[in-house]
Amino acid sequence: MSQATYEKLRRHVHDTAVLHSIDALLGWDERCLLPHAGGDYRAEQMTLIAGMIHERQTDPRLGEWLDELMQSPLAGDATSDSGATIHQVKRQYDKKTKLPKSLVEELTRTAVLGQQVWQGARRDNDFAALAPLLEKTVRLKREQAQAVGFRECAYDALLDDYEPHELTSNVAHVLARLRDELVAFVAAIRHAGRSSKIELLHRRYPVHAQERFAREAAAKIGFDFSRGRLDVTAHPFCTAPGPHDCRITTRYEERYFNCAFFGTLHEAGHGIYDQGLRADWFGLPPGEAVSMGIHESQSRMWENLVGRHRAFWQYFYPLAQEHFSEALGDVPLDDFYFAINDVRPSLIRVEADEATYNLHILIRFELEQDLINGGLAVADLPPAWNAKYRDYLGIEPPSDAEGVLQDIHWPAGLFGYFPTYSLGNLYAAQFFDQAGRDLGDLPKQFARGEFQPLRQWLIEKLHRHGQRYTAGQLVERVTGKALSHVPLLGHLRGKLGPLYGV
Ligand code: ZN
Repeated sequence: MSQATYEKLRRHVHDTAVLHSIDALLGWDERCLLPHAGGDYRAEQMTLIAGMIHERQTDPRLGEWLDELMQSPLAGDATSDSGATIHQVKRQYDKKTKLPKSLVEELTRTAVLGQQVWQGARRDNDFAALAPLLEKTVRLKREQAQAVGFRECAYDALLDDYEPHELTSNVAHVLARLRDELVAFVAAIRHAGRSSKIELLHRRYPVHAQERFAREAAAKIGFDFSRGRLDVTAHPFCTAPGPHDCRITTRYEERYFNCAFFGTLHEAGHGIYDQGLRADWFGLPPGEAVSMGIHESQSRMWENLVGRHRAFWQYFYPLAQEHFSEALGDVPLDDFYFAINDVRPSLIRVEADEATYNLHILIRFELEQDLINGGLAVADLPPAWNAKYRDYLGIEPPSDAEGVLQDIHWPAGLFGYFPTYSLGNLYAAQFFDQAGRDLGDLPKQFARGEFQPLRQWLIEKLHRHGQRYTAGQLVERVTGKALSHVPLLGHLRGKLGPLYGV
């Protein structure tokens, strides 16, 4: 009896996933190929599909099936394929059906308008122009939290959209410990009186050579081009419109080496995760990514922990010198290695280095909690922002355009999203430490161009489980410890300390 119901549920969720994948393909096409004039019709196509997906996700039959299945043995073990499927679909169904349709529509409308107004406000350095819409967004996000419910604070409900099951108090605890040590460490670097020859990275790097080199590196670390593509977009991303169809994008700057190379490693890391998920469960919880933070841990691992490792460049630097003989022919590996690991406090998050990046995130995470949980009024956001930049990074934005107006997230209604970037760094370092213990001398392997042991380890330990474990459970299972700031700090100190003599 319940087996037949389970099959109905599986089929329903599978077909919804097919619609999702069509939407993903339309989205990829919109960002990579669509002629400008085609935008309006594309919006109509995507709106129709979004409506169909929502209808399927809140279909009352789904509720009936889930009521029955939650009582059945199939749901008994939440980490089995059937159990994970039933529990995760139930979770999503409850969340979606608790939100009143009018609130969903109001949130969507406000987010679209918010992004339009934000563009003008940032251009004109005019925070006041955005403030009324931002106030409305905060009010609606609080209503959303009240409607879906939460365990400790309203922000929990918003965080849960990106990092399911996670609690604000837990993330805040780990990030606060990271902050306290990182602020001092970054200040020490700032005052160390050493700097890299960062101008090396701004020599001329011909785009065609960049593209060849980025493809070589992505393939070498394990992005499977027979099941994936690399294309060009203004804002790089990764999307998987099918179980054997993963698409990453990058952006080339002739006068900046890091942009395309590390951007490609980052997106390839996301892609390797998508390609490592179980294809036969595509679109169903056992074949889906755990959370934004875990997804980001995979991209950050390949980009920073592997891609900015000295051993990685022991293998790749001779190849880089071949591709870019004009820029790098006379540059010793040590100078290049220091330049790609340069740390300096800056105003703009997306341009930040591996160490200071987390402080940019902390500032946003602390402020958005204050906005949602009470305390801070939108009108007081710019001075609060500037004060934190002074305290954590020792610099102050000269304008709101370079300060509180730089990110699209809040105007777009994405509250609870920012911390997943730093969670990604934390998870990455913790997993990487464990991989080193399990696999022996990783640097020696990297120096020989061997990246497959690490990739296989990630597939086996993380990717193959899909959503059968929560992010917190996965970290405990794989590393034997709860999430901690210690591995990331250890990694940053271990690499940057010797470079800066701190
Ligand atoms: Zn990413």
